[in-house]
Amino acid sequence: MSFKQPELPYDLKALSPFVSEEQMSFHYGKHHAAYFTNLNGLVDGKAESDMPLKEVVLKSEGPVFNNAAQAWNHSFFWHCMSPSGGGAPSADLVTHIERDFGSFDDFKSQFSTAAAKLFGSGWAWLAMDSAGKLEIMALSNADTPLRHGKEPILTLDVWEHAYYIDYRNQRPKFIEGFWDVVNWDFVKQSLGTPFKE
Ligand code: MN
Repeated sequence: MSFKQPELPYDLKALSPFVSEEQMSFHYGKHHAAYFTNLNGLVDGKAESDMPLKEVVLKSEGPVFNNAAQAWNHSFFWHCMSPSGGGAPSADLVTHIERDFGSFDDFKSQFSTAAAKLFGSGWAWLAMDSAGKLEIMALSNADTPLRHGKEPILTLDVWEHAYYIDYRNQRPKFIEGFWDVVNWDFVKQSLGTPFKE
């Protein structure tokens, strides 16, 4: 069995102007696709090739982990955005965020700061522990809350390949634009139903 890159949940140009069709074509069609190709090459004929991708992320190390986690992280990330996203979450999600961050604006500000300050390549995450408490994590390279015993709820890819075609060195502008496309319905769903892809 081999791992198959899932379909993008919208058109390549659907998130424009946040990200252009060209930016998304490279990110989804080249970078994300390559993690699947690399992973399949690494696990060919091995036990990992018959595991769910999430299990490989939880159990592997080294190049297998890097490619499996990057494959999973991107599949999750695509669902965190929507052409009809942005705005404010539903009232119950706002209440949950306010409980753990004080206010929705404080949460956005803390998440944006974590994403902007993350040195080098990585991901900004909203994650939830087993008690339901939300926290922001800035994790390097392919690292994921899954490896810290936490459930991913929302993520933003801040590897340069995520934004360099559209934003060049302006990572903070990319982060600012992200809030216009966040798929709060998916975020809310992630609180109750862990993403399995
Ligand atoms: Mn990426």
